[in-house]
Amino acid sequence: MSMSMSTTKPQPKPGVATSLIHHAYVPPAEFSAPQPGVFKASTVIFPNVAAMRHREWKDKSGYTYGLHGTPTTFILEERLCALEGGLQCLLVPSGLAAIATVALSLLKTGDEVLMPDNAYGPNKTLSDGELTHFGITTRLYDAMDPADLAAKISDKTRLVWLEAAGSVTLEFPDLPALVRICQQKGVTSALDNTWGAGLAFDAFDLEPGTGATLGVDLTIHALTKYPSGGGDVLMGSIITRDPGLHLRLKLGHMRLGLGVGGNDTEAVLRSLPSIALRYRAHDATARQLATWCTGRDEFAQVLHPALADSPGHAHWQALCQPAAGSTREGGAAGLFSVIFHPRYNTAQVDAFCDALQLFKIGYSWGGPISLVVPYELGSMRPSWPAHLAQGTLVRFSAGLESAADLQADLAQALQRLSA
Ligand SMILES: *Cc1c(COP(=O)(O)O)cnc(C)c1O
Repeated sequence: MSMSMSTTKPQPKPGVATSLIHHAYVPPAEFSAPQPGVFKASTVIFPNVAAMRHREWKDKSGYTYGLHGTPTTFILEERLCALEGGLQCLLVPSGLAAIATVALSLLKTGDEVLMPDNAYGPNKTLSDGELTHFGITTRLYDAMDPADLAAKISDKTRLVWLEAAGSVTLEFPDLPALVRICQQKGVTSALDNTWGAGLAFDAFDLEPGTGATLGVDLTIHALTKYPSGGGDVLMGSIITRDPGLHLRLKLGHMRLGLGVGGNDTEAVLRSLPSIALRYRAHDATARQLATWCTGRDEFAQVLHPALADSPGHAHWQALCQPAAGSTREGGAAGLFSVIFHPRYNTAQVDAFCDALQLFKIGYSWGGPISLVVPYELGSMRPSWPAHLAQGTLVRFSAGLESAADLQADLAQALQRLSA
C-alpha cells in the first residue's frame, strides 16, 4: 500500500449565498407570450472589458446601464413611436419631466421660449422658476391667433410650445398654421400631445395626403393619462423624427439622470393595446355629457372641441375628423369643461363638486374613474379671454363608467345647486 496524494484538489462547495447568486441554470431562450418580459436593471453585465469599452449607449444596439434602457423600455419606446408616428423616443418619470427635459436640453441663457396662453399650468410654473433663474425668457402667445405667434417669434426664440386642445379651456388652435409659422421661422416646435394621444391626429403629418410634410419637431406625452389608463402610473415620453434633435435630447436626458422603472413600463405596455378602444369610449361619453350640459341653464358655456360653438371647433373638425382611408381614429378625448352662470358663487360651485358621487375630486385623467376639478380661471390667465364666459370653470374627465350613470350624477348634483 502506497501513500498517494490526489493531484486534483476537490473544489470547495460554494456557500449557499454564492450558489443562489451564481446559479448555473439558464432557462431556454425561446419564450413567446402575449406580454413582453419585464427586465429590471441598474447594473448591466458585460461578457468582457472590451465589450464594456465598445458598447454604444446612445442607440438600441446594446445594453450598458439601466438608465440607458432595457429590453422592456426599448419595446415601449418603439410602440410609442408607432402610436405617435415618430422615429425616436425617450422615457421619463412623468409628463412634466418630459416638458422639463425638452426645456433644459434645448435652451440656454439668453434664449426665449414661446408658450400658448392656455398651456398646461406646470409648464408655465417651470418657466417662472428654473428657466427664469437660468436667464431664459418665456412669452405667452394667443393660441387662437397664429398672427400673434408669428409677431412674437424673435431672433432669440428657440422653442415654441403647442397644445391641441388647450389645457382646461380646451380651445382648439389652427395647429397646421402654427407649425407652418415655426417651420418658416426655423424655430423648434414642441407639441404637448397628451390630449390627442397619437389617436386624434398625426402630429408628425398634419396635412396627410397633400404630399407636403407638415409636422411638429417633437411631441411630449403624459403617459400617465391614456397610455397608462389606470390612474396608477406616472411616466412621460419625448418623441422625434430627427436623429440630430433626438441626440440633443438624449444627451440632456442622460446628464439629468432620468429613467423609468421596469414595473411601471410593464404597466403601460399592458394597457397600450387597448388605448384606441378606451380613447373612443372616453370620447363618446364626454360628448354625450357635454351635449347634455348645453341644455342646462346653470351653465353659461360648455367647452368641448366637438361642440359647434366651442372655441376652435372648425380647427378641430379639420384636423380630427378622419378623412376616408385615414388610419387615424380621429376623436376628441374624454375632457370637457363648463363655466357656471355668474349667479353661482365659488362656494356653490364647490358644493356642486362635493355633491357628485361618481365623479371623484382629483387631478389628472385617462383612468377608469371620472374626475372633476374646479379651476380659478382668473388666476390662470393674464386677462379673461374674450371667447370665454364669465363664471367659475369646472373641468370634467369622463371615465369608463356608464354614460347614463354619469349623466344622472351630474343631474343630482345640479339639483342640490338649486335647492
Ligand atoms: C397631466 C399632463 C401633463 C403632466 O403629466 P404628469 O405625468 O402628471 O407630470 C402634461 N401635459 C398635459 C396636457 C397633461 O394633461
